[in-house]
Amino acid sequence: TCGICVEKCPFDAIEIINLPQELDEEPTHRYGENSFALYGLPAPEDGRVTGILGPNGIGKTTAVHILADEITPNLGDFEADPDWERVLEAYRGTALQGYLEDLQEAEVTVARKPQYVDKIPDTFDGKTSELLAGVDERGVADDLTERLGIASVVDQPIDTLSGGELQRVALAATLVRDADFYFLDEITPYLDIGQRVTAARLIQELSADDRSMLVVEHDLAVLDLLADALHVAYGEPGVFGVVTPPKSTKGGINQYLGGYLENENMRIRPEAIEFEEHAPRVEGYGETLVEYPEMRKSYGEGEFALEVDSGEIRENEVLGIVGPNGIGKSTFAKLLAGRLDPDEGSFDARLDISYKPQYVEIDRPMRVDAFLASITDDFGTSYWNTEIAGPLQLDRIMEQQLTDLSGGERQRVAIAACLSEEADLYLLDEPSAHLDVEQRVLATRAIRRYTEAHDKTAMVIDHDIYMIDLLSDRLQVFEGTPAERGHAGRPVGMREGMNAFLSNLDVTFRRDERTGRPRINKPGSQKDREQKNAGEYYYAP
Ligand code: ADP
Ligand code: ADP
Repeated sequence: TCGICVEKCPFDAIEIINLPQELDEEPTHRYGENSFALYGLPAPEDGRVTGILGPNGIGKTTAVHILADEITPNLGDFEADPDWERVLEAYRGTALQGYLEDLQEAEVTVARKPQYVDKIPDTFDGKTSELLAGVDERGVADDLTERLGIASVVDQPIDTLSGGELQRVALAATLVRDADFYFLDEITPYLDIGQRVTAARLIQELSADDRSMLVVEHDLAVLDLLADALHVAYGEPGVFGVVTPPKSTKGGINQYLGGYLENENMRIRPEAIEFEEHAPRVEGYGETLVEYPEMRKSYGEGEFALEVDSGEIRENEVLGIVGPNGIGKSTFAKLLAGRLDPDEGSFDARLDISYKPQYVEIDRPMRVDAFLASITDDFGTSYWNTEIAGPLQLDRIMEQQLTDLSGGERQRVAIAACLSEEADLYLLDEPSAHLDVEQRVLATRAIRRYTEAHDKTAMVIDHDIYMIDLLSDRLQVFEGTPAERGHAGRPVGMREGMNAFLSNLDVTFRRDERTGRPRINKPGSQKDREQKNAGEYYYAP
């Protein structure tokens, strides 16, 4: 096996040529004998946004501790006394020399956004406005909260905020600081695409003020939009990690998706991840699972109201669901499940839905294996191992307690639990949150293969456009004004769906000429204008 999966390779890709090997040179830092070792370091640069692309557990946080002068790198000699002189010597003549010298002269101040925003209420008690006032060194909190769309929640206690609101509060609380070096560990979880693009713009604006920004991000369309240069991190999570010298953002992402790092001569994945340039044809396959009529539902006078166009969902398909947060996607699912009755339109199919919510809450004092065994009798069978545990990389965490899992681990357990239930319809809300890029690809395959092999139907809500593209057979587009009114279109083909969705956002994608990968167009560029005129926002005509 390639070390990722438990039993036999579910992707028929056992022929791994050159799995990353630990380098035969001095590491930047090693925690101890037989402990994790980091090779290389990202090089922050004034006035630039530097991205890091790579899996979890590969040493990104370690690197930031070094760049923030919280760890003195030991160059592999974990018994020696910390010695910056040796480090400066080792990095003389590299892109990092200037930064490390400034760090030694105590001329670098650091601001950081943590990866797991759900934990903020554990460490801060009070109103959001108080949190922001305490860190607003640049005096821009009002402006940032306005632009991030969280002005209406600043008077709320922090523990009443949703994950999407916390993510934006955390971003604001980092960007209001007056620092030289900003480290942002994942900016997109729980944000819809409009909010992701806003966050990217704010980070770029701050970098233009001659500050260095280092961003870890797994939503590749956003990373592509955001970063001026990119380090790829690869290796064996938990064992060793290598941070490559900076690459161009476009080249780095292309090589990453292709599975092969050119300068390093390193294959990091057996096969390339490919996007279809032309919309796939899917009309006319799959039996109808359910037909539903036009429906309306509101939560009371003057509160949120949803209008649903009639439509059908098919067996065997993955239906991608796109649209902003707060637009009625969960309300629609509750109508399908019969947990809510429509005010207008009658629907009594009551589908049995297995649901993975956006905010995963499985914190019970229980081991992962016991939890999953309590959900399905298939637990531990070779079929279950191959189709669910393998692709979701569960074998390494089976014996851990649910309460000890990281965000990405919890997400994978929750996806496995959702797919393991007996149900008519699997509804997954933001399965990409906190998964690294590799895990997104594996989770995408697990969901697709599972629905194909078992004549099941999945509906997947996600804001990572690459994941939606790789996952979906058809799309359902939600639009309207969040928290006021929503409109759910009927499920349509990919081209029609992407055009409707992206025209609402006023964003077009072009294709990378070498790999066919979709890339966000600069607003107002020639391609952007041409495509808008032609009404082709995503796929080539
Ligand atoms: P990432 O940010 O890419 O997820 P980290 O830098 O947090 O990765 O961790 C990389 C590896 O280093 C992990 O396997 C982690 O367990 C290990 N590690 C982190 N801190 C220490 C430490 N103080 N002592 C030993 N190992 C550590
Ligand atoms: P989405 O899944 O697209 O984020 P939801 O369907 O969860 O959207 O919610 C749409 C809107 O309806 C939101 O403004 C939400 O606050 C509101 N809402 C959801 N459930 C209720 C309820 N039980 N009572 C009143 N308002 C609700």
